[in-house]
Amino acid sequence: MLYYSLNHQSPKINFAEAAVKGQAPDKGLYFPEYIPTLPKEFINHIKSYSKEEIGFTIMKPYVAESIDNNTLQQIINETINFNFPLVKISENIASLELFHGPTLAFKDIGARFMSRCLGYFNRNNNKEITVLVATSGDTGGAVANGFLGVDGVNVVILYPSKKVSRVQELQLTTLGKNITALEVEGTFDDCQTMVKQAFSDNDLNKKLSLTSANSINVARWLPQQLYYFFAYQQWIENEAPIICVPSGNFGNICAGIVAHISGLPANHFIAACNANDVVPNYLQTEQYQPKAAVATISNAMDVGNPSNFIRIMQLFNHQFNQLKNKLSSVSVTDSNTKKTIHSIYKKYKYILDPHGAVAYKALEDYLKNKNEKGFILGTAHPVKFPETVEEVINQKIDIPKDVERLFNLKKESILMQADFKNLKEYLISK
Ligand SMILES: *Cc1c(COP(=O)(O)O)cnc(C)c1O
Repeated sequence: MLYYSLNHQSPKINFAEAAVKGQAPDKGLYFPEYIPTLPKEFINHIKSYSKEEIGFTIMKPYVAESIDNNTLQQIINETINFNFPLVKISENIASLELFHGPTLAFKDIGARFMSRCLGYFNRNNNKEITVLVATSGDTGGAVANGFLGVDGVNVVILYPSKKVSRVQELQLTTLGKNITALEVEGTFDDCQTMVKQAFSDNDLNKKLSLTSANSINVARWLPQQLYYFFAYQQWIENEAPIICVPSGNFGNICAGIVAHISGLPANHFIAACNANDVVPNYLQTEQYQPKAAVATISNAMDVGNPSNFIRIMQLFNHQFNQLKNKLSSVSVTDSNTKKTIHSIYKKYKYILDPHGAVAYKALEDYLKNKNEKGFILGTAHPVKFPETVEEVINQKIDIPKDVERLFNLKKESILMQADFKNLKEYLISK
């Protein structure tokens, strides 16, 4: 399997090179040459496979000869060594809970896979790698956790000042060692832009081996397919599900659509967005107009120009009607998000986090007057957002020990204006 750049001006490369480079030299995103088709037998008997076997079956064609079978299996086993329960909330909606990993959000899966791959690719290399990553809230902690203490890898995280939750901020600013947090006075899009500028800056690339740990990196993006298969393993209905994904940078839902093209049964996908509604608008008007991100209570989805949308377009060969057939997208206000957290807690005693609530609302509306069933992706644990959730359900939520421990640690970050010059200066001087 080779990967080409969606800007078509860079040579094709294998998985290892794509994972190390992150972004193509022509600034395009890497994309697999083809989407493998899974045997029918595998899908029909998915319940008889272990999570580890599913992981290997899905990832092997993408990784190909870049990692030997034993090592790949070991990387997968370590990546997914926690639970992915599909929990029924209401009559027609379940949540695939993806927040049982170390940083309590789904980003752990991609980050753990990617960090282990890079550690492996760098095993005989004396040169240090610098992993640059922009975070809207959860990526930072997951990547930091995945790379903490990994030899030869430095992690530099850019996060938007005052726009992430307290738990999110502590998770990415208190680790020390090979992890540095840059607190950017701007939005997530500003952080993402600075990171992209770094990748195309000649001086920096001469001095450092830079790579990206955002979902533009294939090693972070592609393993996200796994949990759609884990959900299907637990799906007991005859009809294929409607799958609703709380979306920001659109890496997660894009991986779900890749899984579907490979053979995963799904009747429809819904990208649930907050007030950042570039994609909902696009699906209505066929005009793609990036906007400045606005801050919401589902902050990890505050993205005004989602990087991965171009990959979704590619999956549908840029055919608008085909895309619209398979994918809907809606925007949910903060007020409706809070109402949803409140009413679902009241009716079912289930606590949604703000991101899951955006998805729940979108799926509930979609299923109205339909006989279908579906699931949302529960992308983060509600304890990451106690400020919002406790106020809405009018009750304290239990804080796990690991989170409690964070409150006693000291935040360490470097404050920086949202200007690439500052990032460059910092990286050169480091
Ligand atoms: C990152 C994140 C999202 C958005 O995922 P994308 O792949 O960027 O669309 C949704 N919910 C939570 C909790 C997140 O951390």
